[in-house]
Amino acid sequence: MLKVAKFGGTSVANAQQFKKVASIVAADPDRRYIVVSASGKRFATDNKITDLLLLVNAHIAYHVDCTALLQTIKERYVELARELKLTYPIAQKFDEFAMHVKDVSAEYVVSRGEWFTARLMAELLDKPFVDATDVIRFHHDGSLNQDMTARLLQQTVAEKGSFVLPGFYGATSDGKIKLFERGGGDITGAVVARALSADVYENWTDVSGFLAADPRIVDNPRTIHRITFDEMRELSYMGASVLQEEAIFPVREANIPIQIKDTNNPDAVGTMIRETAEEREREHLITGVAGRKNFTAVHIQKAHMSTEVGFIRRALSVFERYNVSVEHVPTGIDSFGIVVNGADVSNTIYSIVADLQKELKPDSVQVVDHLALISIVGRNMSRRAGTSGRIFGVLGEAGVNIRMITQSSQEISIILGVTNEDFNTAIRVIYERFVKSEMVCAASE
Ligand code: ASP
Repeated sequence: MLKVAKFGGTSVANAQQFKKVASIVAADPDRRYIVVSASGKRFATDNKITDLLLLVNAHIAYHVDCTALLQTIKERYVELARELKLTYPIAQKFDEFAMHVKDVSAEYVVSRGEWFTARLMAELLDKPFVDATDVIRFHHDGSLNQDMTARLLQQTVAEKGSFVLPGFYGATSDGKIKLFERGGGDITGAVVARALSADVYENWTDVSGFLAADPRIVDNPRTIHRITFDEMRELSYMGASVLQEEAIFPVREANIPIQIKDTNNPDAVGTMIRETAEEREREHLITGVAGRKNFTAVHIQKAHMSTEVGFIRRALSVFERYNVSVEHVPTGIDSFGIVVNGADVSNTIYSIVADLQKELKPDSVQVVDHLALISIVGRNMSRRAGTSGRIFGVLGEAGVNIRMITQSSQEISIILGVTNEDFNTAIRVIYERFVKSEMVCAASE
């Protein structure tokens, strides 16, 4: 087995967390390729090293002295090295960096969070340190050079056997540092897993896995143990997220499963994300529920619209002109709705309605604000009669009025529109009645 293990910011926040990582890596010899984020928050009001480095750049840009800030960052690393009894000359190396901080690029400055963290981790794990500059290669347009990256990583593996690699950045062929998006250590881990054809990409973080509902709405929601990439996309899109979204694609394409694990509770099962989730065990009918508030629906009605070719297209082109992305288009016979993100039309909705009236000559245009969308996701719902009926029944009993319904074509999700006010109630009721343990069905049925 070959495992790529990526540890997020809180997993490497202090000496105690470093030791947890060391025992996780030691517990499984398959964990040979380790990717780390920069040290994150040690407690709720703490700062991530990456944020502090961004602040260093802001100081430089505005010609404000950043000596004290650099000293704060240095102390965190010096303390880490001291508590772990590491010999790497961190104070000296940090001073060298600090001395040239104004001469290097802003991206270089930010990348040092991962660089120093990986340096120290490599010594603790007694594995070679590999600089992402040497193996994660970007094209000059900022996109990843996948082929070159794969070649460089494979070469490195052949030479070194195992390594600790800083996440979040790489370089162009002329050595210019480039960053992935925020949270991009996840992307590095996925890119490495793919390049090395790993059996699994382990993503170690500070939660027990992907939760079946938002813990701010539902008390103690259960962890989803198995989820498909499609299900996860649906849930993440609606606001539930653990992983950097971009991190999914490299491993998904190569059919490599992602295992989300909790550094603070390594024995917990976590969440396994893969292309298909075939198991013989009893499975939940609904995998999870998630949602977002503040959508706006524009309802357009016109008698005999159903016979007018191109009517919906013309309506959509008005939204396109205003550069508004359309989320859903629930349709009736002589009416349809266009659902968009409320914030995207907050300044333009009157002009949009005016254009719709002018160009489509509808019988009526009605704008409904403060709409929330809820996605009920479950691969086991497909081809199983009666699920939506039961959901509507339960919401009706709870006094929740459903304003809109759509279903994804693969039948893995049902999307409901309710008012913002009913949002929390709807999520709680669906979770209690369908997602919590009792609603299981045999996958082999
Ligand atoms: N350190 C970077 C950030 O805070 C990347 C990462 O943590 O994955 O966004």
